[in-house]
Amino acid sequence: MINLVLFGPPGAGKGTQATFLAKEYQLIHLSTGDILREEIAENTEIGQITRDIICRGELVPDEIVIELIRHKLDKNPTANGFLFDGFPRTVPQAEALDTLLVHYGRSVSAMLSLEVEKEELINRLMNRGTTSGRSDDSNRLVIENRIEVYNQKTAPLIHYYQSAGKYEAINGIGSIDDITRRLKSCIESLPKNRKSR
Ligand code: AMP
Repeated sequence: MINLVLFGPPGAGKGTQATFLAKEYQLIHLSTGDILREEIAENTEIGQITRDIICRGELVPDEIVIELIRHKLDKNPTANGFLFDGFPRTVPQAEALDTLLVHYGRSVSAMLSLEVEKEELINRLMNRGTTSGRSDDSNRLVIENRIEVYNQKTAPLIHYYQSAGKYEAINGIGSIDDITRRLKSCIESLPKNRKSR
């Protein structure tokens, strides 16, 4: 059993890599961004509350995303493991994830952090905006705000997972295949005791 946090700033390539890794290791892929976009598309109450926050590139309140994740964990009690993509994004979310996983007899095996510099992130997101249909991808000011929010609220998680001995830095520059190879080699070299729950 293995539970991975795929981490990195917006545009680091988390979504693309998460799809490969979830398939390769038979993990349930939980992307809070995707879940929130579904809520918006279905015009649910959560969708209505979060739509404007996401458009501005701000973070949705912790209680909302934690509840969404709790619900998914509840629905998949026998999963081989989970791949968290875009979650946690704040220290309280990381603490809540640890508590939730203990409840299910699991723990985070590793935080895989895709490292990409700011100018490259902006270029990638502006490019993605031409095809993704995501309003938060096409506006440079919103993109810069998302990176700023990442630096202020999300980057402190590096220290959180470093202190727990679970932080793994991965060079996020190169071809998609190169980055997948780096991630797989990191996962396969994780010590057995970190993969067991
Ligand atoms: P993403 O697809 O991961 O880039 O997420 C798109 C947007 O959804 C983010 O810019 C946030 O507004 C919101 N979001 C996604 N995941 C979270 C999270 N874990 N905490 C707070 N907001 C989130």
